[in-house]
Amino acid sequence: MNSKLPQVGTTIFTVMSRMAAEHGAINLSQGYPDFDCPPRLRELVAERLNGGCNQYPPMAGILPLRERIAEKVASYYGYEPNPETEITVTSGATEAIFDAVQAVVHPGDEVIVFDPAFDCYEPAVQLAGGRAVHLPLSLPDYRIDWDRLARAISDKTRLIIINSPHNPCGSVLEATDLDRLAELIEGRGIFVLSDEVYEHMVYDGRGHVSVAGHEALRGRSFSVFSFGKTYHATGWKLACCVAPPALTEELRKVHQFVTFTSSSFVQYAIADYMAECPEHALELPGFYQRKRDLFCELLAPSRFRFTPSAGTYFQLVDYAEISALGDQAFANWLTKEVGVAAIPLSPVYREPPGARHIRFCFCKEDKTLERAAEILCRL
Ligand code: PMP
Ligand code: GLN
Repeated sequence: MNSKLPQVGTTIFTVMSRMAAEHGAINLSQGYPDFDCPPRLRELVAERLNGGCNQYPPMAGILPLRERIAEKVASYYGYEPNPETEITVTSGATEAIFDAVQAVVHPGDEVIVFDPAFDCYEPAVQLAGGRAVHLPLSLPDYRIDWDRLARAISDKTRLIIINSPHNPCGSVLEATDLDRLAELIEGRGIFVLSDEVYEHMVYDGRGHVSVAGHEALRGRSFSVFSFGKTYHATGWKLACCVAPPALTEELRKVHQFVTFTSSSFVQYAIADYMAECPEHALELPGFYQRKRDLFCELLAPSRFRFTPSAGTYFQLVDYAEISALGDQAFANWLTKEVGVAAIPLSPVYREPPGARHIRFCFCKEDKTLERAAEILCRL
């Protein structure tokens, strides 16, 4: 078989979750909550499911949901996208990312990604016939090296993919970072795909800066948000993409033939919930910051070294004082022999720097974090 994606195996998130289940380990690997989504939201889903919302919704998503998204983007980021021409509902951020890449990347184009990079970016680029150019985030704090980016941009660069808050590193971009990006691509035919699925998980009083709110960037950018993350419902696979009309038009040409549309009753229920409970998103940074603080406090006596995450529900830790194993071997050992599953970083690098870092996910019940930390502190 002449594979179109020869280097791709099963995603590390599936591999580690499966290993955790097989070995009965506490699963702090794949990012999903072990608590349920809000009861009122579940009630609304049931109401909409039983209330006849079960046929094809419009291709771009139901209008009430796109209207709620427009209001939310306006209130958080200061720009109100047009629900008719600038917002598309998709089946997860994964679909939005795939659609955006197919929409703008032509064979031979280069797409710049920053390593470690979420694993769905490169395969989408490859399937579009493009070439991913990998730039490492700078250690120790995993920041973009803007001078290096400036040198990497070429006449072939078509798209730059950024991700803030960053999975797996937990770093966040600031307004000055977006200004720098805008300067670098000004006057060139380069687009930006901004993966902002953890927009409501930024801590210590810092706010998320969205490309959708950046005057110089939003005219050439796709901003991707995920309801799965915000509403503790990763299994519903509902997300959206905000992009200017010309980009949205191209994105929808792909979307209509990838999924056409997304689950009807879930769209209605989320639109209802956004109108009824706007405080949910406002409370999210506090909710997860408390979990981050608890997890960091519990791990403080351990031999793991870390700086508390600035964003996302992930915490990177350095295990160099505990083991000389490579990160994949260490994560396997931790899962199988110690009983706590984590994500190694090397699978999400083109050229792993050899750092002894793994990722723990803290969107878990307090008691799960306590049980895991108790085990980890014994190492
Ligand atoms: N981007 C990043 C950085 C993620 O962590 C995730 C979560 N899996 C996604 C995209 C995909 O989100 P979704 O589950 O909405 O497809
Ligand atoms: N975003 C999730 C994580 O980083 C994984 C999503 C997936 O399994 N595709 O753990």
